[in-house]
Amino acid sequence: MTGIADRLLDGPAHRLAVAVSTREVRARDVTGAALGRAARSRERHGAFLHVAGEDAIEAAAEVDRRIAAGETFPLAGVPIAVKDNVHVAGMPTTAGSRVLGAIVPPCDATCVAQLRAAGCVVVGKTSCDELGMGSSNETSAFGPVRNPWNPDRVPGGSSGGSAAAVAARAVPLAVGTDTGGSIRLPAAFCGLVGLRPTYGRVSRSGLVAYASSFDQAGPIARDVRDAALALAAMAGADPSDATSLPGPPPDLLSRLDAGVAGLRVGLLDHAGEGVDPDTEAALASTAGLLASRGASVVPLRLPRLSLGIAAYYLISAAEASSNLARFDGVRFGARVAGDGPGALVRATRATGFGDEVKRRILLGTFALSAGHREAWYERAQRVRARIALDLADAFRACDLLLSPTAPGPAFPIGEKSGDPLSLYLTDVFTVPASLAGLPALSVPAGLSREQLPVGVQLAGPAGSESLLLGVARELEAAAGPRPDPPGVIR
Ligand code: GLN
Repeated sequence: MTGIADRLLDGPAHRLAVAVSTREVRARDVTGAALGRAARSRERHGAFLHVAGEDAIEAAAEVDRRIAAGETFPLAGVPIAVKDNVHVAGMPTTAGSRVLGAIVPPCDATCVAQLRAAGCVVVGKTSCDELGMGSSNETSAFGPVRNPWNPDRVPGGSSGGSAAAVAARAVPLAVGTDTGGSIRLPAAFCGLVGLRPTYGRVSRSGLVAYASSFDQAGPIARDVRDAALALAAMAGADPSDATSLPGPPPDLLSRLDAGVAGLRVGLLDHAGEGVDPDTEAALASTAGLLASRGASVVPLRLPRLSLGIAAYYLISAAEASSNLARFDGVRFGARVAGDGPGALVRATRATGFGDEVKRRILLGTFALSAGHREAWYERAQRVRARIALDLADAFRACDLLLSPTAPGPAFPIGEKSGDPLSLYLTDVFTVPASLAGLPALSVPAGLSREQLPVGVQLAGPAGSESLLLGVARELEAAAGPRPDPPGVIR
């Protein structure tokens, strides 16, 4: 017999939070059930790298005590999972790499601390591509993650463990990070809502840096309201991140039920990008639905769409090569002894980093090196600026941009791992918003003929998160209840 805690874990976070707030169920019972599910989804899907213990029960009991004393929390007692490149006090951070060694941070990342202040309880750390580099969760040093919709498929990356954990119903909500698409892609592949905020909306303090001018943390959720509640908790100015946006974040919930009438939706021209027929059909029906609800759908072309991948992979590799220089075996992280300091650094980095990370470090170091910087790094920066201008033009002609999130649904584990370029191309639709620092979300748009989720992406101008959430909510309401994946944990 499933108890009330288990029933609540099968539903959205906002319903669970009401039940905990009204003391229909104790946060500690919900957390106990979530810990069991997290352990099972670690075994079954490889979604978790660390599952919390008694500390999580203690944290949940504290939420219960504070509620009994009259405090209120928007996400009361909601168990969450956090991608393992985001620090959680007292839990090891690996970022899917061996190079960090056994770092156990003494404090939470700002966004995690804010989620806890909103009533969340962290039940574990989720697997990811090594240091956030990947689109399939296959570059993790600790093995691939399996998609709960089909265990032979990737969950998408790099926040694949977070998406698999939510899809499998281990937790209703998870934190991901998105540099070039790592929240949106796994959300699409696992049938979830994933939101990349405007650059600076969520503090980067406490994130393992990949490419600092792109990195943003954000929610992966079962529904749109949960994504809005989670982002509202995570967002805000932070004195410890100089790039965090000043001032209070906009109200993310007020426009949720405002509908789409009168909105101008740009349908991205994606000819030549290899979009598969099922994704094509999902996109067409989404556009049709928005039109039937009173939006005007206009075709829109981004003239430099196909240059986005090259610019993104060059600049992100350049930033990564610089950020990852700190993992030298001397200051912190793993250390492999060598004969003298040079040999120590070489041995540590040679064994600590996986192949994909080494490939990016080499590419990035080359792109920044004297004599090549102008031809590669600076040129890529000019393309980045042009793409941002193209998007600014687009948002004069429309309020938001509709596109596929990915060219197709989740692919088989191993299919693209030997061919990095084909894997990079998976990101063609997600990198433009990343290059321009704009918000974008992926929302489910049905299942393919192979019963795999298909997502569509909504992108908007800076600060338009509440608009995107409102449009996504309309799509979600029109689609009705979604089926569970076969790999759901109970
Ligand atoms: N797939 C992209 C990359 O490997 C995006 C990763 C991310 O957003 N963290 O860089």
